[in-house]
Amino acid sequence: MNAPLHPDTVAVHTGRGDLADLGVHALPIDLSTTNPLPDVERGGDAYEAMATGGRPPADGSMVYARLWNPTVARFEEALAELEHAEASVAFGSGMAAMTAVILAHTHAAGMSHVVAVRPLYGGTDHLLGSGLLGVETTFCGPDDVAASIRPDTGLVVLETPANPTLELTDIAEVVRQAGAVPVVVDNTFATPVLQNPLGLGAAMSLHSATKYLGGHGDVIAGVVACGEATAEALRRVRAVTGGLLHPLGAYLLHRGLTTLPVRMQRQQESAMRIVQWLIDRPEVAEVYYPGLDGDPHGIVARQMRGTGAMISMRLRGGYAAASAVASATSLFTHAVSLGGVDSLIQHPAALTHRPVPAEARPAADVLRLSIGLEHPDDLIADLAAAFATLKTAAEPPLSDRPTPLRDESKGVVRA
Ligand code: PLP
Repeated sequence: MNAPLHPDTVAVHTGRGDLADLGVHALPIDLSTTNPLPDVERGGDAYEAMATGGRPPADGSMVYARLWNPTVARFEEALAELEHAEASVAFGSGMAAMTAVILAHTHAAGMSHVVAVRPLYGGTDHLLGSGLLGVETTFCGPDDVAASIRPDTGLVVLETPANPTLELTDIAEVVRQAGAVPVVVDNTFATPVLQNPLGLGAAMSLHSATKYLGGHGDVIAGVVACGEATAEALRRVRAVTGGLLHPLGAYLLHRGLTTLPVRMQRQQESAMRIVQWLIDRPEVAEVYYPGLDGDPHGIVARQMRGTGAMISMRLRGGYAAASAVASATSLFTHAVSLGGVDSLIQHPAALTHRPVPAEARPAADVLRLSIGLEHPDDLIADLAAAFATLKTAAEPPLSDRPTPLRDESKGVVRA
């Protein structure tokens, strides 16, 4: 019997098993919006099957691209294999994926309440806190999940490592506290290379595929790895609400998966070097990176295969220093998003976490770094040059300072 393949090998070959039979080597792209129907009856049966979340029947048709697209389905098959899941369902963005997860586990399931463990990505926090989906949310810490569950709770939402401060939560422990309530883990920062939440009891592993899965900053997408029954519920929401992933995006994501393990490994190595450099810098008050605290609860050891390539730091000079450094780098692009081949720097309180209520918003002195594939020495030199501007730049008079205004204790409050 052959030994199981290594994840690097799986990432290169997954979702491609039939290509040789098709006589092609690159992934085929099907851009059809509609598909020929064999006859009215079989066309109608296929429509019915897919509009309720099923797959296209063998003798039917794919009918319409809002119901099924083979290029998207091929990417979904590949991602599911990397997550050790039965299935996955792709969407037009990470937020479309999270919206579908919430709808499928609340309104569509006769439930009306969600428990969400903070901290979370600002967009997720905003979606849940806004009440826009007509669902009530209780935000809590990782130890209060059991106490927050109600008879009408349909979902527990968790993110680990969490955006932006890289806080780690014990997935298996949250699953234990959730009992029969399904848990979705936002696995965007870790990727399937470093963490597989389904193996720890989570029902779903969600990704903003915009980030590491695509890896090149040119696709916006989301995907949820899960069991087939959950996939049916999610495909139904997708078919009805239309939060689709375009096949060109699916093609690029599938291609991105081939280099995901090697990108993660190299970006993580660089991140670890940069963390070591940052902790000795006088400008830096604190560095956030998984395991840097010695992993006192053994979470890294238990549930991760690596610590990733995202870093956050607090600057001693507060908001003024943070905003100055964000604008002073040259290799690090000052931009939101993360997980691509090029390094990014951004100020979470002003941007990605701006909609989060003040009590849960990151502090005004925090900057987040996404480490790319540049040589780490060059990235360190870029940060050193940006820090050097803090020593030389004269503090502008208050009236000349750019918006947003600040509140030292609660982060940026308004532009
Ligand atoms: N989850 C995390 C951890 C994110 O960082 C983001 C976006 O930054 C999202 C979800 C939302 O994904 P998208 O921007 O693809 O909608």
